[in-house]
Amino acid sequence: MPRYQVVIKGGRVLDYESGLDAVRDVAIQDGKIVGVDGDYDPGDSPDAHVIDAAGQWVMPGVVDAHAHFAGPPDFGFDTAIGLVQLAAAGVTTAIDLGGQMDVLFDGVTRAGTGITVGSLMRIAPGQTVASETPDVGELTDVISAGLADGSLGAKMWGGYYPLTPEGTARVIQVCNELGAHVAFHVGTTESGSRLDGLREIPEILGSTGRLHIAHVNAYCRGSILPPEQEVAEALQILQSLRPQTVSEVHMAVPNFTRGACGSDGAVLNDVPRNCLRLRGYEVTIDGMRAAILDGYGSVVVRRGDRLELVTGKDGLAAFEARESDVPMSFPVNLPSTAFALTEARDDDGEFIVDAVASDGGVLPRNVNIEQTMAMVRFGALSPLEAVAKLSFNPAEMFGLNAKGRLTPGADGDVTIVDPVTGSATTTLAGGRVVLREGSVVGTGGTILVTAAGEGAARASGLEYAVLDVSRSKMYR
Ligand SMILES: [Zn+2]
Repeated sequence: MPRYQVVIKGGRVLDYESGLDAVRDVAIQDGKIVGVDGDYDPGDSPDAHVIDAAGQWVMPGVVDAHAHFAGPPDFGFDTAIGLVQLAAAGVTTAIDLGGQMDVLFDGVTRAGTGITVGSLMRIAPGQTVASETPDVGELTDVISAGLADGSLGAKMWGGYYPLTPEGTARVIQVCNELGAHVAFHVGTTESGSRLDGLREIPEILGSTGRLHIAHVNAYCRGSILPPEQEVAEALQILQSLRPQTVSEVHMAVPNFTRGACGSDGAVLNDVPRNCLRLRGYEVTIDGMRAAILDGYGSVVVRRGDRLELVTGKDGLAAFEARESDVPMSFPVNLPSTAFALTEARDDDGEFIVDAVASDGGVLPRNVNIEQTMAMVRFGALSPLEAVAKLSFNPAEMFGLNAKGRLTPGADGDVTIVDPVTGSATTTLAGGRVVLREGSVVGTGGTILVTAAGEGAARASGLEYAVLDVSRSKMYR
């Protein structure tokens, strides 16, 4: 009998691509899946071992298509926290939508947790490009340089650093021409991070453009129409854009914002003002204090190697200690919206939104698995469909052809989930244990780059994999 380095015994093995849903063993050798059947014998190499997965679900490693862990520096959070929180949440591959490669290489070198990571560079007027309407020549130079640094493409943060519609169209055009991934937090100088931003996309994209639309649920919070009407229109727009776009939804109820108040007691940012108004709090520093004491507002506080949402008296103490200038969170994302967008199917039964992604990482809202498992318990998704949302589809979105599946030859990336708690217990990336019974034990990590970034990846001294983005679902 052949011998294998890792054998995962007796779990309910779920592979969306092949349709496999049965109690099986999974064998891994040299970092790759070699079999999902038979009675496997672990090898006698020092790292050989058997993982008992009886009573648990064994799925291809979870791919988070939208996270943040490699900057931007103004987040003020350490990449190490993001890498730990992603690994702890059962993620084995994560893409930073708007990170910096120098921060990413440094973070993985210092504090890698064994997961595979990649990043899109941020396109922001005044930071990475000169104006709100950058020309094609400038964009070609900037994005080509980003690819050479190791980025997989570009992300536009329309909700924070909008470009004009014309500038937005040019970023998409240049990324499409360069075969780079391009993602968009919608909104331009003419619209917002709302349904009106989504309405602009058909014209911006034209008949040939290709695009990844980030967190569709964030544009359906009811600021233009009632939320359920916004969901219906968003789904219509996404269907009309097929096959030009891919998209994801995040499932976290808490948002992320800043608490900063002026010396006159005014709340300085628009988002926390709206959050206070929503529940009838006074829109002042005193309203903020009341919201924290009531458990509605939370302060994001570092505890050990994690960030936590802290409310009540402890939250208020953290708020006062930094004179209100603290990262904060309010539970304002609508679960019904995320749920409706995630389960929506077209007339052929195909999902309209591809994936569940966290928009987390460094932010403490890495709940992809828990929330998707809750939808399975509710009967809105089958177990195999949950695997499509968490792993297969996000892998396809980025052209990660060796991930998202458990077929022989695929990467030895596995997420084992306890169906009772709905959380990941154990994960492996490239055949190496990242999460063991809830504890993050992985080190190092693999960096995803395009062919243009191979030199940068090699120079980092880290393990890397070269991705052909032109083979992603976005470009098919
Ligand atoms: Zn994001």
